[in-house]
Amino acid sequence: MNRMINLISDTVTLPTPKMKEFMMSAPLGDDVFADDPTVNKLQDMMANMFQKEAALFCPSGTMTNQLAIKCHTNPLDELICDHYSHVYQYETGGYAFNSAIAVNPLIGRNGKITAAQVKEAVKPVYDWLPISKLVVLENSCNKGGGSYYQLEEIKPIQSICEEHSMKLHLDGARLFNVLVETKEKCADYGKSFDSISICLSKGLGAPVGSVLIGDKEFIRQARRFRKVMGGGMRQAGLLAAACIYAMENNIERLKDDNNRAAQLGEVLSRLDYITTVRPVKTNIVIFDLIDGLTANEFIDYLKTRNILCSAFGPQTVRFVTHMGIDDQSLEQTIQVLKEYKY
Ligand SMILES: *Cc1c(COP(=O)(O)O)cnc(C)c1O
Repeated sequence: MNRMINLISDTVTLPTPKMKEFMMSAPLGDDVFADDPTVNKLQDMMANMFQKEAALFCPSGTMTNQLAIKCHTNPLDELICDHYSHVYQYETGGYAFNSAIAVNPLIGRNGKITAAQVKEAVKPVYDWLPISKLVVLENSCNKGGGSYYQLEEIKPIQSICEEHSMKLHLDGARLFNVLVETKEKCADYGKSFDSISICLSKGLGAPVGSVLIGDKEFIRQARRFRKVMGGGMRQAGLLAAACIYAMENNIERLKDDNNRAAQLGEVLSRLDYITTVRPVKTNIVIFDLIDGLTANEFIDYLKTRNILCSAFGPQTVRFVTHMGIDDQSLEQTIQVLKEYKY
């Protein structure tokens, strides 16, 4: 009953022995010459899955998002997103640094914006305004507590984008946590977005790697920008193999992570030292503590009981479930939460 339970993020997963074995047996080549068969296999697999022309393996989801922004915009353009978006909050201001564009962060609900909001945000063309060029949606939405869009909400946003010659990018870092819930098809996502970024290093359990998906010309350009950012990797098949393994073995089990998060949310909502739990939709649980109890205090306490998690505000805490959290870890966590007295 005394092991460490790490709820900080679904990025903390370690490669399993089977994944490592698969990595070690992958055929390799030099991917800067597009000559690594395993990288090529992963890219083809992802492109086919989403029924897009091409894909590009990258070291991180930050890079795949940044490449998409770079390829879809010119300096002095503007990107529209929810104010909770990763591209706005957690990419070091890369939209400005890499692409010299402005951002128009909208206040949505739990990280989700509507077609009406996007329509209103599109700027008229004047010398003194940036040009609205790109919309980025995040699915699931991390800071929104793992909330998600369904395709029927995305379609009207796509129409607004088409109407105003704007591109639509999906930050799908945790898209598969959504798809195991909605049962929507990857191909329909492919049809709805100009580009898609998927993280394999989160719930899917690969140690490193994200994939950017789009049409041929877009990926050709992204490849050049990946190189100038220093993201051209040589025998990257070693890592791509882990991603192939993750895609082939770890998608369905994301449903377990979502279910365990729901159980945590259920327990948390009945505890008297917690005021609100954001609706739990996938594998993220965000909750607020009562007045007088700070997130740091609570997190320090949990640490003494072998539970690690992170603050999401002065009185806000986040739990993320993943393949390292089994039923025993869940039971142990629930026990500790119930025992806490403020
Ligand atoms: C994790 C994450 C990313 C990418 O993060 P990296 O750590 O750079 O791989 C992008 N978007 C969202 C929503 C994320 O949660």
